[in-house]
Amino acid sequence: MIKKKLTLLLLVSTIFIYAQERCGTEANTLKLISKYPDYAKEREKVNTETKNWIANLPNYQSKTIITIPVVVHVVWKTSAQNIPDTQIQSQIEILNNDYRRNNIDQINTPGVWGGIAADSEIEFCLATIDPNGNPTTGITRTQTSTSQFSILGPSVEDASSGGIEPWDIDNYLNIWVCNLGGGLLGYASQPSNWLSSNDGVVIGYTNFGNSGNSNEPYHKGRTATHEIGHWLNLDHIWGDNNCSDDNVSDTPKQEEDNYGCPGFPHNPNSCSTTNSNGDMFMNYMDYTNDQCMNLFTKGQKARMLAAINLYRPNLIYNTCVDPTNVINMSTSNKKLVKIVDILGREENKLNTNSPLFYIYDDGSVEKKIIIE
Ligand SMILES: [Zn+2]
Repeated sequence: MIKKKLTLLLLVSTIFIYAQERCGTEANTLKLISKYPDYAKEREKVNTETKNWIANLPNYQSKTIITIPVVVHVVWKTSAQNIPDTQIQSQIEILNNDYRRNNIDQINTPGVWGGIAADSEIEFCLATIDPNGNPTTGITRTQTSTSQFSILGPSVEDASSGGIEPWDIDNYLNIWVCNLGGGLLGYASQPSNWLSSNDGVVIGYTNFGNSGNSNEPYHKGRTATHEIGHWLNLDHIWGDNNCSDDNVSDTPKQEEDNYGCPGFPHNPNSCSTTNSNGDMFMNYMDYTNDQCMNLFTKGQKARMLAAINLYRPNLIYNTCVDPTNVINMSTSNKKLVKIVDILGREENKLNTNSPLFYIYDDGSVEKKIIIE
């Protein structure tokens, strides 16, 4: 038994080292398993339960938009780490655009996958009521003497190591923003019937939102889009092993993670397939640069809605209420119809530094210029 535990800890450390470039969710799962053996059994059930839920409700759509209340815990030592409210608000706006497929770079999704790109019908709002029933901005700020946090400790989710405990994990998405060590951009805990007391998402302060201290090439808020995807039970698109399974049927098999900004098609016919379109490297669950990510698929949407219904059901009903005295960052319910250029020609490629007109189904039009 001792030998088994030591092996697991070694595995955690090894994965932690290899995961340094981007995401520590797999390492976090292994850490939780080593600490709480019951967590492994519960996680094993999740894929079966999720597949059954989707099979029983193949056409399930959320009846109304699910709006998840978020609390952002800023844990800071230096003033740079004490990120401004505007940086936090920019992140909430990015999440709403990405999860509702109102992201302006959606036209970069290759046409072959346009039909399976999903509006997840999930939105996010900064919490307006705290766990004691009092009005809140949905932001907490904690000054710390801890210089750097990590998955293996010191833990930002633990007050005894200089962090802050989560708000009620059944009713809020807890996001910690801090100085995260080891080169990690972020990590998350995936759902099950047994939830960790530290359930939530952790993001490095230089990779949060698209303003303030947000640094290239992870400066467009897609780290949080990715990590919340894990929190809603999505796996990495390559399945964390060569040509492995991400438990989603409409994403192509992929040999490994991608970095940077590959050109399309990338790695066609890999994994012994005849998939000439290659990797879906622009999926939020790959490791490419923020500016090259632009979609979740319908299969991923089904898995996220299953996760909320099965493991995070309070979030369906516990939304942000009475926003009269707080900033409500939830977007409206309008949907993008098409994008045209200044001459009215429909655009199917993202052109930078020239005006584009976004036409919505409520008749409104927004003029946007993407400056690179
Ligand atoms: Zn990840």
